Amino acid sequence: MRIVVVAEHDGTAVRGASLSALAFAQSVAAATGGDVSWLVLGHKVDVVAQDAALLAPVIVVDSPALENPIAEPFARVISTVVKERGFELVAAASSTFAKDIVPRAAAQLGGAMASDVVRHELADGRLQLDTPRYAGAVTATVVLQGLPQIVTVRGSAYAAAQPTGENHGIERLELNPAVFDCRGSYEGLKSKQNARPDVTEARVVVSGGRAFKNAEDFEQHVGGLADALGGAAGSSRALVDAGIAPNELQVGQTGKIIAPEVYIALGISGAVQHLAGMKNSRTIVAVNSDPEAPIFDVADYGLVGDVYKITPELIEKLESH
Ligand code: FAD
Repeated sequence: MRIVVVAEHDGTAVRGASLSALAFAQSVAAATGGDVSWLVLGHKVDVVAQDAALLAPVIVVDSPALENPIAEPFARVISTVVKERGFELVAAASSTFAKDIVPRAAAQLGGAMASDVVRHELADGRLQLDTPRYAGAVTATVVLQGLPQIVTVRGSAYAAAQPTGENHGIERLELNPAVFDCRGSYEGLKSKQNARPDVTEARVVVSGGRAFKNAEDFEQHVGGLADALGGAAGSSRALVDAGIAPNELQVGQTGKIIAPEVYIALGISGAVQHLAGMKNSRTIVAVNSDPEAPIFDVADYGLVGDVYKITPELIEKLESH
């Protein structure tokens, strides 16, 4: 299969979740005898393209129209490049950015799409894709009909692709200006400045639940332990709904699905919707005053006690080392 992977980036480097999408694509290409290219989109993205070229050949579309993440031009550029180059499979990370853009491109291409793929297999020459449903309670195995096929890949399900030690080259593509036409206009971005990494990128995630009574306590305990470990702060939905933690920290079925090396759940009960977002973490640590809390069923290490007492002790011990 001829495969293109949409490279999500932060303006300087490709995001970890896209490296997992590349790993998926490389595995499919190895099984089908195909090839894989990156598609880097944005404005002034030379540095990103150079970073991406360390893993696979890069096609770059650079335009002021792609400076801000507006779905319309991004989707049309993807569908145009796929048509012009005859790509048979489009892969992207299963992220908020991709959820906005990739289904539009799939509709423009008239292609079949599978979202949030966690496993794949080539059986009888057909690519079978596993995608979880109902918060992971069941897994559907789907085979997409026709070409092109469009797939988003869950970052936590595939280990990130690694640089190969060679430069795979960069091709700059000029497209007809009409491709960038957009009915929307970019009015600005409101973003909380957060010095901590995003939960999807961090090796260690410390999440807080309803045990925390207000934003100050959350910041002091959850933020404090995250900082002491150089990790990200996350949250259950209960705290997001209560306005105590910001939306982007939510882990779970309707939040972010992650699999860090270490996940620390402070005062989180372990509802199935929360587990759906973190149960594949390599090591899970839970602190909860209720010894019967379901979070202990998935925890590798459990501490029964009050987070208001235990968390400061953990922070103090870490900081004294
Ligand atoms: P609770 O369930 O209230 O648990 C609080 C825990 O803290 C308890 O176990 C308690 O023993 C413990 N505790 C209390 N005080 C202390 C203390 N001082 N020290 C130590 N422990 C203490 N939830 C998500 O998290 N993410 C999602 O994406 C998500 N999506 C959802 C989607 C749908 C469609 C639905 C219906 C629900 C969703 N939920 C989600 C909500 C989910 O069902 C739970 O309500 C939520 O996860 C509970 O959050 P919590 O564990 O913080 O709170």
